[in-house]
Amino acid sequence: MSLQKHDFPSWIQPDNPGPWGIFLQQIDRVAPYLGSLSRWIETLKRPKRALIVDIPIELDNGTIAHFEGYRVQHNLSLGPGKGGVRFHQDVCLSEVMALAGWMSIKNAAINLPYGGAKGGIRIDVSKYSRKELEKVTRRYTSEIGLIIGPQKDIPAPDVNTNPQVMAWMMDTYSQNIGTTATGVVTGKPIALGGSLGRVEATGRGVFVVACEAARDKGLSIPGARVAVQGFGNVGGTAARLFAEAGALVVAVADHTGIIFNANGLNIPALTDYVAEHKGVKGFPEAEAIEADKFWGAEVDILIPAALEQQITLENVDLIKAKIIVEGANGPTTPQADDVLSQKGVYLVPDVIANAGGVTVSYFEWVQDFSSFFWTEDEINQRLERIMRQAYRSISEVAQQHGVSLRTAAYIVACSRILQARDLRGLYP
Ligand code: GLU
Repeated sequence: MSLQKHDFPSWIQPDNPGPWGIFLQQIDRVAPYLGSLSRWIETLKRPKRALIVDIPIELDNGTIAHFEGYRVQHNLSLGPGKGGVRFHQDVCLSEVMALAGWMSIKNAAINLPYGGAKGGIRIDVSKYSRKELEKVTRRYTSEIGLIIGPQKDIPAPDVNTNPQVMAWMMDTYSQNIGTTATGVVTGKPIALGGSLGRVEATGRGVFVVACEAARDKGLSIPGARVAVQGFGNVGGTAARLFAEAGALVVAVADHTGIIFNANGLNIPALTDYVAEHKGVKGFPEAEAIEADKFWGAEVDILIPAALEQQITLENVDLIKAKIIVEGANGPTTPQADDVLSQKGVYLVPDVIANAGGVTVSYFEWVQDFSSFFWTEDEINQRLERIMRQAYRSISEVAQQHGVSLRTAAYIVACSRILQARDLRGLYP
């Protein structure tokens, strides 16, 4: 389905709509399945609110630098906004809009009482000191303080942000309002009201739904061959859990390089290596390979767990995996999606596969409100139950309508969002 010029807001370049263009195409694909609720579909094709902020800081060398920051609230029909904050040199408004849209779908697909939001700062974190990153984080939080809050919009970690960044955000927001507000962000350190299990939650969720998908496809995890793109919080945790379950993680790619070992990489050794060398490149017990060999690797399960638009018409034909589990947000373009369906590749979409993080964020938010904290076992058990149920109910919808798991997840999520929209009605 091709998008028309008028489908884009005025500030997006129609020739290069980026991830937002992908999101719009995904919404167009679900429209025919929404019955009378489809009269509200346009509401999903424009973010409710997008804030662009200037972030000036004094660098360690005494000069002033400016960064551009964003917070987009895509849809708030089901509750306060929820979604992470990304620090990356390629962050732009179109990307944050798409990431916010995917959060709306993800939160609704899992049935969390949240709308969708996302934030970001266009910054290359490798070029700045800890003190500079703290200043950037604090100024950004202060600038978006207008629209965030425990009942308004609750940020969390995403690419290149972590519990320390969340601690600075929580502290800045709290200083500005004059009272400690732990519920304003999730993914905080445990000592500040964070939740056990949150750091691992996204990777654990990826592993749990991958096990369900493998069961449906008659694949056994012990002995399964796995390739992972991205070895950060999501890919690293998922790789560890696969290896612990007896799978062979044969290929790992990250921004520094791609490594391969047909007998399975030693994941604990790789984790230590990456902590020290900041990337997989040069890991001794492996062979360095090119991108084409990575995408074309003879594996059963492929986990893209890095950035958007990784599986495209350029490389989709190479893919030999039977199952793809999207740890990243938006890694597959709609055109590549079609090719994968034709090839019979079973794809568990991002909005289900990587929802473990926001699910434990929800647990954290609830624990902060009640000031009563659960054990790690309780958290992991609840997480696994929610992920399994979400996967099961979406695969039933996929079978009912004869559609992909992605379209099924969008049917479930968009129906929930638009039903709330319909019941709330338009104001004025
Ligand atoms: N950034 C994560 C995501 O993309 C987590 C969001 C959250 O916990 O709010 O789902």
